[in-house]
Amino acid sequence: MNLKSLTQPELGDILKELGQPAFRAKQVFTWLHKGVRSYDEMSNLPKALRDALSEKYPINAPKAVRKQESQRDGTIKYLWELSDGNCVETVLMRYRYGNTVCISTEVGCRMGCAFCASTLGGLVRRLEPFEMLDQVLFTQVDSKLPVSHIVLMGIGEPLDNFDNVMRFLELVNSPDGMNISMRHISLSTCGLVPKIDELAKRKLQLTLSISLHAPNDAVRDRIMPVNRAYPSEALLSACRRYYQATSRRISFEYAMIDGVNDREEDARELLKRLKGLPAHFNLIPLNHVEESPLKPSTRAAVARFQKTLEDGGVTATVRRTLGSDIDASCGQLRRKYNEEKH
Ligand code: SAH
Repeated sequence: MNLKSLTQPELGDILKELGQPAFRAKQVFTWLHKGVRSYDEMSNLPKALRDALSEKYPINAPKAVRKQESQRDGTIKYLWELSDGNCVETVLMRYRYGNTVCISTEVGCRMGCAFCASTLGGLVRRLEPFEMLDQVLFTQVDSKLPVSHIVLMGIGEPLDNFDNVMRFLELVNSPDGMNISMRHISLSTCGLVPKIDELAKRKLQLTLSISLHAPNDAVRDRIMPVNRAYPSEALLSACRRYYQATSRRISFEYAMIDGVNDREEDARELLKRLKGLPAHFNLIPLNHVEESPLKPSTRAAVARFQKTLEDGGVTATVRRTLGSDIDASCGQLRRKYNEEKH
């Protein structure tokens, strides 16, 4: 068991068993969530307690086996080695509104999207809550940049690791921990409909981001196998239910792929299908992945698509490409590293 996966009350129970007074829970929780590497840093705890804790619950921290910093925009990408030797990627992006950390939720992914590097080797395992938290903590400690926003858009499908992700959100939102507001968190999914409904029930104020990438089933079936289990109409219905439950506008991600999903009529079809659903589109020119024949749309096609959406009353932004000089799109760095190792 890892203490960083526990809520403050749960941590309190453990400390109580060790004969500690109630106020210790807050102290230990606060220290753990600062990203300390040893109990000896917990200067307001008695030595005997520090020793007992480090014997029973050693603090482990991921090791940065690669760190790349973009010369263009200051984006930093980490490849962390976990305690079992598996690696995951975390990216720190510096926006005007604050530093945003993009974390991984699984080692690998089993969703099989045709354009994505993270899924090429399949799913290895899901991350524990503390392993998601550690990515935020140690990115902040190492970079010395305060993190204010989190996006669950790294390697893995967050809703395929539902319970651990929910617990991570609770932890990172804790007032005595990182205290990151739900409104500063985005969770991205390829569209696991039953899990979207489960998430809706929690009524969190986070931003739900849907990786849509296609105007209809014919195109989506081709590039996203998940669409065969949950076709796009079922997905859009889940989005409507989600909006009804939370009043939170849905954010759609749309990777623009040359000749596949980027025609003006694709945008018009989307407008028709999204009628009445408050939505925002993030248009992302496809990041080319070596193993894939898919190519990014031209700038002109992206601009035309954006205009069509906006003329139809749906806001659309073209996402700035950050870290393009450091393999910053998800899964690329881990993949290169694994190939070098073998
Ligand atoms: N599994 C979740 C979380 C990953 S988020 C999801 O599918 O939403 C990462 C985002 O980047 C997703 O929208 C994903 O579809 C997108 N993506 C993956 N590979 C990409 C590529 N080569 N170019 C552009 N976007 C890509």
